[in-house]
Amino acid sequence: MSKRFMIFTYGCQMNRYDSETITGYLTQEGYEPCDDPAKSDLILLNTCSIRDRAEQKVFSQLGRLRKLKRANPNLKIGVCGCFATRAGADIAKRAGGVDLIFGTQNISKLPELLEELETGSVCDTDAIEPDFTELAPIRRGGGLGAYVSISRGCDNFCTFCVVPYTRGPEWSKPSALIAGEVESAVREGFQEINLLGQNVNSYGKNSDAELTFGGLLRKLDRIEGLKRIRFMTSHPQDCGEDMIGAMAECEKVCEHLHLPVQSGGDDVLRRMERGYTTDEYLAKTALFRERVPGGALTSDIIVGFPGETEKDFEGTLRVIKEARYDNIYLFKYSPRPGTPAESMGDQVPEEVKTERFQAVQLLQQDISEEIHRNMEGSIVEVMTEGPADEKSSKQRDRGHLGGELLQISPPKRFVGRSRSNHRVQFTKGGPPPRAGELVEVEILRSGIRSLGGIAIPGRAVLADSGALEERAP
Ligand code: SF4
Repeated sequence: MSKRFMIFTYGCQMNRYDSETITGYLTQEGYEPCDDPAKSDLILLNTCSIRDRAEQKVFSQLGRLRKLKRANPNLKIGVCGCFATRAGADIAKRAGGVDLIFGTQNISKLPELLEELETGSVCDTDAIEPDFTELAPIRRGGGLGAYVSISRGCDNFCTFCVVPYTRGPEWSKPSALIAGEVESAVREGFQEINLLGQNVNSYGKNSDAELTFGGLLRKLDRIEGLKRIRFMTSHPQDCGEDMIGAMAECEKVCEHLHLPVQSGGDDVLRRMERGYTTDEYLAKTALFRERVPGGALTSDIIVGFPGETEKDFEGTLRVIKEARYDNIYLFKYSPRPGTPAESMGDQVPEEVKTERFQAVQLLQQDISEEIHRNMEGSIVEVMTEGPADEKSSKQRDRGHLGGELLQISPPKRFVGRSRSNHRVQFTKGGPPPRAGELVEVEILRSGIRSLGGIAIPGRAVLADSGALEERAP
């Protein structure tokens, strides 16, 4: 009987992609995916190291898994991902019961590591050069979008970040291999691809890859059957006409740019070694606004970086107001072991971080609400994901008018994503849209996180009660 495995994935989309690749290798070695830890022969934790909390979660999970191991002594437990690369054998020393540890750069060695595992525990976190000669045996999860990594690692060494230490130097995958992977995802039925990299837009900079990132977008835009192209994450220092021009010209490239500013204080940006000033950053967001009208801009922001003054913080508020982000990922600075910022003096007290976090949160909520309210009355293209979850959608999504969609039996509410990456709930008469179907939706209501509307050619009016009801076109 073949062995069964389960993977718990923590952290970012890159980890999800890595888990799909690990799944590919394991199935190639005769393992079968399983969703019950008690029936698994191998359980892997694909970990994240971006914050201390993410690492602590791993130890809690290992504690639970140790109990399973007592019931099933043949169970093998493995830890991989960024935390495994950073801490290596120390994880096994601290947690006990761990049989296999491998780093983010050793995934392709999995067949050998499994063989070694037959005779005892294994730890391999030594970096190796990626093999870009052929496609990895990836086994993708469900959903409409497929992840495709275009590069690995990072050369930037921002002073707060562990990624260059856990994922190594930057390597760009050859564009022909990327195109092959996208084509194979399209053949499997995926309609949207998400290109992944720590800095997607520095693609091709440090290697023999023959294309720039803009060139790569143009190449992928020509792939038949593909409907949408997204990418994440872009670094401001590599953002310019090459990339934004391609976004403006390529039909399949979605109008959403995630461009992390991290801070609006020039001194803080210098100590973070981000490679740009706030004015240079805002010039790039202005270029995006000019070339990609109606596009959505999102960002990452850290408050409380060492030495962040009140003036620096006001700079962050100014950038948020000027850039007018659709949404942000907001973090309180937390020191990461081995990074230069960990030993910087002038750490900001926790209560100041909390105050600044809350001030940014409130400001951003107002901006998100206003942007979404201004979208009411517009028509957006939505890629249908499926029927809306009635209970949770009502709780989440009452909108600033307090309205909700009137249900007509049978329920005809669906959910999907717009090109600008907004979550849209909509009603639709007639046959229900299939998953992946593109539907034109008129936006009729909005909330901080999502939009609601009706599929065209239907029309809707706002009833006195604030509810929306369908009427004939
Ligand atoms: S660019 Fe900076 S923040 Fe992003 S992965 Fe590289 S070092 Fe980390």
